[in-house]
Amino acid sequence: MPRRILIADSIPANRVIFQVRLSDGFFRPLLTADATSCLRAARRERPDLIVIDCDLPDMPGPQVITALRSDPRTRNLPVIALIAPDTPERRLAALRAGADDVMVKPPDMSVLLARIRNLLRQREESQMMSRAWGCEIPEMLGLADRKGSFLPVGPVGLIAARPETAQAWKQQLDPRLRDHARVHAPAEVASYGEQAAHTHVFLIEADTGTHGGGLRLMTQLSGISHFRHSMFCILAPETSDTAALAFDMGAHDVIDPSVSAEELDLRIRLLLRRKQQADAERSSIEAGLRLAIIDPLTGAYNRRYAFPRLAGIAEQAAVEGSEFAVLVIDLDRFKSVNDCYGHTTGDTVLVEVVRRLRDNLRIDDMLARIGGEEFLIALPETTAAEAQRIAERLRCVVGATPVDGGNGVTLSVTVSIGVKTGGGPMAPSEDITAMVDAADGALLRSKTLGRNVVTLSHSSV
Ligand code: GH3
Ligand code: MG
Ligand code: MG
Repeated sequence: MPRRILIADSIPANRVIFQVRLSDGFFRPLLTADATSCLRAARRERPDLIVIDCDLPDMPGPQVITALRSDPRTRNLPVIALIAPDTPERRLAALRAGADDVMVKPPDMSVLLARIRNLLRQREESQMMSRAWGCEIPEMLGLADRKGSFLPVGPVGLIAARPETAQAWKQQLDPRLRDHARVHAPAEVASYGEQAAHTHVFLIEADTGTHGGGLRLMTQLSGISHFRHSMFCILAPETSDTAALAFDMGAHDVIDPSVSAEELDLRIRLLLRRKQQADAERSSIEAGLRLAIIDPLTGAYNRRYAFPRLAGIAEQAAVEGSEFAVLVIDLDRFKSVNDCYGHTTGDTVLVEVVRRLRDNLRIDDMLARIGGEEFLIALPETTAAEAQRIAERLRCVVGATPVDGGNGVTLSVTVSIGVKTGGGPMAPSEDITAMVDAADGALLRSKTLGRNVVTLSHSSV
């Protein structure tokens, strides 16, 4: 479905141009002639992006943008503001109100279309993360304020054909941001990993070295893992083919070399803020993914993770012809711990038992909590004899010394263990459910033998 672009422009001839050029660019234009109808359409039609001429008859441009940013229904829509030439203060006002970009009017239509594509792509990336999460992540994290109240400082890398040019940019920055800015020679790219490890924003002259060399540099840098999440800003005339190309190549912003020092500073800070927001979104998703596979009490993996991972270990063993083992571990008479000392003490015991088990496993072994006081351990590349030895060691480290249950309580805890091994040269891929059942059967035998015992299953699965 074509993306819908809401236009607010009071001049009928301009609206005709937008209508034609946006349709040619595979967008669906929604045309309005004043701020009131633009705001109404923004709320009702939920367009994908808004382009506002800041000379609307009924409301100043920044006020329209502020209204959009204050309404939850339109808060996150990308906005491009079109501003009369030679009015640096008005450009700043629109950016401060929360515009994603400001462009001189009448805009170069190829640059505008490239910027629209660029902002839509950036928004779609952020929405993909939000959809995975089920709500707008910036909102949830309290990062939704897109007006310029709090603007951070952070590491900025400046790259120009001549170092004097980059030095001059540095001097234009507010002193607080200047302290975080570093000039880099373009030829240093190969060693940037060391030098500029945590650069959040790169400002790169479009024609660094050769014509368009800065764009190639941006592509090179964004391929280096350190800078995968950095923001890239290209310095190029706003109405040039280079600007359009930079947007299509994924630049996060393009700054015209003629902008005021204040605008340069502001735009870099807006990028720094976006970088912070994107980092926060990413880490909240990582935390969410972690929560989905980790048991919050003990930090061991949960059941959901354990079985697919065990299947992976079994497959790998089949490919390599190696042996592996499954251990099912259950705390002995644990109900009586809860009954005598309370659930909180019981929880403390569970955490400590997991710590002891984990400390005695290798990095590639997997420890998961698959029931209240029941654990599964997978041991890749392990023979039956080794598995039995490891199981004995685990049984001993749990039972050898009493556990501190807090509040002056110390108590002895033991575990019973069932072991099932599989794999080996020429063996087919193991049925892991059957293996876990067999280990469970061996565990039951350990219980009937009096607990605090390891039993190796000899059943064929
Ligand atoms: P057995 O030796 O036969 O395994 O005896 P048991 O008492 O350990 O076994 P049973 O299945 O009767 O009881 C398990 C107990 O584990 C019951 C429950 O109170 C406790 N339990 C399960 N999950 C948790 C938990 O998350 N925290 C605490 N504190 N206790 C738990
Ligand atoms: Mg038990
Ligand atoms: Mg149990």
